[in-house]
Amino acid sequence: MRQFQVHLGDALRTAPNVTVLFNAHLVSVETSADRGHVRRLLCASLCEGDHLRRFPVEAGCYVLAMGGIETVRVLKLSGDLGNNRGDHLGRGFMVHPLLTTAAEAHFAAPVPLEVRSFFRDQQVRLRPGTGREEPFVHDSAPLVSPALMAKYHVFNAWGVLVPTAAAMAEERMGNFRAILRFDPAGDRAEINLNWEQVPNEESRISLDPSHVDPVFGQPVVRADWRLSEEDKRTAVRALDLVRDHLEKNGSTRFRILTDLSGGAAHWTFGKADTAIATGDHHMGALRMSASPDDGIVDPDCRFHAIDNLYAVGSAVFPTSGYANPTLTIVALALRLADRLRRGAGAAPPGHSS
Ligand SMILES: Cc1cc2nc3c(=O)[nH]c(=O)nc-3n(C[C@H](O)[C@H](O)[C@H](O)COP(=O)(O)OP(=O)(O)OC[C@H]3O[C@@H](n4cnc5c(N)ncnc54)[C@H](O)[C@@H]3O)c2cc1C
Repeated sequence: MRQFQVHLGDALRTAPNVTVLFNAHLVSVETSADRGHVRRLLCASLCEGDHLRRFPVEAGCYVLAMGGIETVRVLKLSGDLGNNRGDHLGRGFMVHPLLTTAAEAHFAAPVPLEVRSFFRDQQVRLRPGTGREEPFVHDSAPLVSPALMAKYHVFNAWGVLVPTAAAMAEERMGNFRAILRFDPAGDRAEINLNWEQVPNEESRISLDPSHVDPVFGQPVVRADWRLSEEDKRTAVRALDLVRDHLEKNGSTRFRILTDLSGGAAHWTFGKADTAIATGDHHMGALRMSASPDDGIVDPDCRFHAIDNLYAVGSAVFPTSGYANPTLTIVALALRLADRLRRGAGAAPPGHSS
């Protein structure tokens, strides 16, 4: 948000058709009686003395961009909006499962620096720029000098292994990324495994009526994140493939450090790096689908059943891959912005706004 303000502050202030409201919390979405059209948004601001000021916001079309979970919550608070006849709203919630330290590999000789740094050298990085006009600069040049590393905001200094499409099809497994974090000596690496969760209707976002937030008095979210046997199988097979690959490339010892016994329900969630964790990427629960029978938004991010409501964010992802989601979110947002600029978001005849 800060960068957004720095870059676009002047343009937003002077734009005749833009009003920016700070400290405006969306409380619910109000639709027409047939629920096919958004009439207005009901918002609230926390003012001095903890006074709550409520106000409506009206527009021709509306884009909800409140992150991977909150958008679903507000739709549920607004009466399960979005063609929820099929009970899809909130279902298919996904997070990238993560084993920070899944295994370790030892090598007879130090792995060459170029191999260890391969992933890092292929990345496009964001480097601080020189002035206010240019706070960050893209940089894709190889980076091998440790002295330069500290200057970069985003980098991965480890080798990485991902499966080929053929391996995934043959193994019938999800996609994964194994990052090798080498010791300084280069002869031992810890394996960080991050993978694709299979879409699962039982993994879901719902409301928790027994807990309300203290400011707006609305039920908070209950996130019931569920992994399946297929998800566990992907992790097990991914580590097998990584072991095979490393043993063919100089690894003399490979040791699994996490507990992969039992089914998905037996997975250990704990504080240890070897236990399973979530990868900070909330996706799904507002699934994009070609048909209204299969999801909530259409391929243009518009709600199937509401003619002037859109959602942008990872909640619309029907599948999750293993990779960080934000670039895809930005791509979807830019595509939707183009569409709306061309006028596709205008309310069709017969509806008032
Ligand atoms: C620790 C961490 C590390 C991450 N690292 C990466 C990474 O390296 N690469 C990557 O691609 N992704 C990463 N992610 C994921 C990334 O942050 C998200 O994918 C991204 O922020 C989603 O963008 P968004 O605009 O959809 O939602 P958000 O960034 O969550 O923005 C939603 C906004 O809506 C506002 N909001 C929420 N509810 C309301 C309401 N009711 N009314 C008004 N406003 C509301 C929120 O205050 C927020 O400003 C990381 C996430 C975490 C937590």
